[in-house]
Amino acid sequence: MMNRAGREIFGISEQAGVRAHTWSSIGKASDAPKVDTAFESVRQGRSARFELTVRDVQNTERWMDVIAAPILNARGEPFRMLSIWRDITEAKRANEEVQEARYEAEAAAERLSAVLESTMDSVMLVDHFWKVRYLNENAKRLLRLREDAMGAALWQLFPREQRGLFAKKCRKAMKERSPASFEDYIASLDIWVEVNASPTEDGLSVFFRDITERRRAEEDRLLAQKQIAHMARHDMLTGLPNRLFFRERFDQALDRVLGKARIAVLCLDLDGFKVVNDTFGHPTGDALLRQVAARLSHVVSQTDTVARLGGDEFAIIRPLPEGAQAPSALAHRIVETLTEPFAIDNVTVVIGASVGIAFAPGDGTSAEELIKAADIALYRAKAAGRGTYRHFEPAMGAQLQAHQQMKLALRDALDRGELELYYQPLISIQSKKVSGCEALVRWRHPDRGMVSPDVFVPTAEETGLIVPIGEWVLKEACREAAGWPSDVSIAVNLSPVQFKSKRLVGVVAAALASSGIDPARLQLEITESVLLDESEHNLELLQELRSLGVKIAMDDFGTGYSSLGYLRSFPFDKIKVDRAFIRDLPSGKESLAVVKAVAGLGHSLGITTTVEGVETEDQLNAVNREGFDEAQGYLFAQPLPASEISKLITKELE
Ligand code: C2E
Ligand code: CA
Ligand code: CA
Repeated sequence: MMNRAGREIFGISEQAGVRAHTWSSIGKASDAPKVDTAFESVRQGRSARFELTVRDVQNTERWMDVIAAPILNARGEPFRMLSIWRDITEAKRANEEVQEARYEAEAAAERLSAVLESTMDSVMLVDHFWKVRYLNENAKRLLRLREDAMGAALWQLFPREQRGLFAKKCRKAMKERSPASFEDYIASLDIWVEVNASPTEDGLSVFFRDITERRRAEEDRLLAQKQIAHMARHDMLTGLPNRLFFRERFDQALDRVLGKARIAVLCLDLDGFKVVNDTFGHPTGDALLRQVAARLSHVVSQTDTVARLGGDEFAIIRPLPEGAQAPSALAHRIVETLTEPFAIDNVTVVIGASVGIAFAPGDGTSAEELIKAADIALYRAKAAGRGTYRHFEPAMGAQLQAHQQMKLALRDALDRGELELYYQPLISIQSKKVSGCEALVRWRHPDRGMVSPDVFVPTAEETGLIVPIGEWVLKEACREAAGWPSDVSIAVNLSPVQFKSKRLVGVVAAALASSGIDPARLQLEITESVLLDESEHNLELLQELRSLGVKIAMDDFGTGYSSLGYLRSFPFDKIKVDRAFIRDLPSGKESLAVVKAVAGLGHSLGITTTVEGVETEDQLNAVNREGFDEAQGYLFAQPLPASEISKLITKELE
């Protein structure tokens, strides 16, 4: 209450706890206009409402909601004022706090959003219903989504991912309210992501980043590692396991051997591979090896391992359970399949194969021991005429050792003067006179006596010693022939290996020069293998030799690759039919056919025709009937030492 004139408060709510004050002492100075306005309203008979601040007994500021109303006298004029005070401090404060909280939340959201936008990560917030609630710019870009994706269900946006690892992990995180970190491939986007999903009040916050590049790099590295591991265990050319892998496979197989079970190791060697390689060139050789690998892989069974140990050496592991037979059938099939002609580019090549077989644990317990034993058996198979197979026998070891010793001894044979030349006459069928002599080398071994060239020439070819030996033969033969009548020619055998020596032409020229014989008297006997490939190089060498004035004879005709075509590839001066065809004359039909064909071809091409190995009159008559020019054989004379051949020639002249 207040008196009309003054500004005292007469009545006040207890709730406000405000003692009597003068109005002027209530509120702040700034409240004064509000109070004046309210008083003016009351004086005019209207009520008013306003807020003001007062200080309570603790001197704390409190907010008051004041309603002031006039109390009218009988005349209807305001004579007192009623004021109702309500303390609204708490309500006001609460309101301020709400405002504050809202402001704070807005600021925080703004800050968060700024952080989320500035992060390198992609951020997506989804609610409990998997509806997308927030995506930062990175997320939109990475997930290829636009603003309109907001509110859409995640699995509707990415239906393909519904059942993947990503979905599984996120569902679990949401359900169990535990964070999840993982990497996954998002097939629908073809990207790899690293994901951190954390549950929130409203659902799930998913942080992820694109790790495609890293994963691809890792995949590449893994692939490279795999490739390197593969390369370390495989032969690059054929793709077959190499020696290292072979050894591992063997050890594995050996670990599984129980009771009477065994492991067979087959080593094989290609007969004639070197010739193909040397004459057609390495690319052809490589192609041949690949085809050989393919054929081998075709003939083995699934439990076998085919490996290329190097060069033209291949090996096979065949586990043999108890009671299984020795793999003779496999060996036979290998020989058979590799003897079939190979078509490489435009050429057809024919090679052969020999196989050696050894067994673990009987012949050894390591891959190396088995390879060695099988190699010894292989060597025997080759010695037995190639195109066949042999099982290892302990005695073979000793024989191999003997072969090794021969190799060593042969190295010194030339220096020690242990080599000699024998001469076998060639008889002109018409005149029955010696038209020439063939030089045939012999090795007078200090312990073993006279060693046949059939035994040591292959070894000399193997070691390359045939080159110096061949040089010596040429020189020695020409020197010897210089003492014979000038119409007697001298034939010298040349090994295909000698064609690889750059000195061949020079050596022949030197032998002619130092002996002084007419080059036309020298006949060089070569075999078909020199021409097998029509190798340009060898043909050129033959031309060069021919240009020295010497004659070139094709030796052992009919034995090797046997093609009359070779006779057309070079203008030979002479064909010498191998003694294998003379042996079964006159009855052997096939031999007779060869003899007839050669005679006919010789006549038409103007080439001298010769036969070797004539031992009987019947054989001589048979070749005579075909019109051969020359014959050689025991019927006339065996190969003889130099002194005896001289006598034979001179005697004949008498
Ligand atoms: P080839 O060139 O075919 O020589 C003929 C071989 O047949 C010689 O054996 C000879 O003794 C033998 N022979 C001659 N007439 C008869 C006969 O009527 N019946 C039988 N059964 N055999 C007969 P040889 O001297 O043991 O030579 C064997 C092979 O060694 C030669 O075969 C030749 O390929 C090679 N050879 C010999 N000397 C040399 C040489 O100086 N250099 C080269 N590279 N190889 C040589
Ligand atoms: Ca010969
Ligand atoms: Ca021969």
